[in-house]
Amino acid sequence: MLKRGASELMIKIDYSKCNGCLQCLEACPVNAITKEGTVVIDYSRCMKCRTCLISCPLNAINIK
Ligand code: SF4
Ligand code: SF4
Repeated sequence: MLKRGASELMIKIDYSKCNGCLQCLEACPVNAITKEGTVVIDYSRCMKCRTCLISCPLNAINIK
């Protein structure tokens, strides 16, 4: 199997777990998360720092 580089990893929100608390939005240092009904990640801004992942109380954010 080909090993994927870190640059290909994407931050993903599991909407089945997310309750819309917005802690990830407040935690993101580059304002890459916005609320558009649900929380949405702007991948043109996201630098994959994982701050949102750590901030989510419901473990609804993954990197893969
Ligand atoms: S990984 Fe970092 S930059 Fe990307 S959305 Fe999460 S907190 Fe923001
Ligand atoms: S911190 Fe987690 S539960 Fe809260 S809005 Fe973000 S993804 Fe959803």
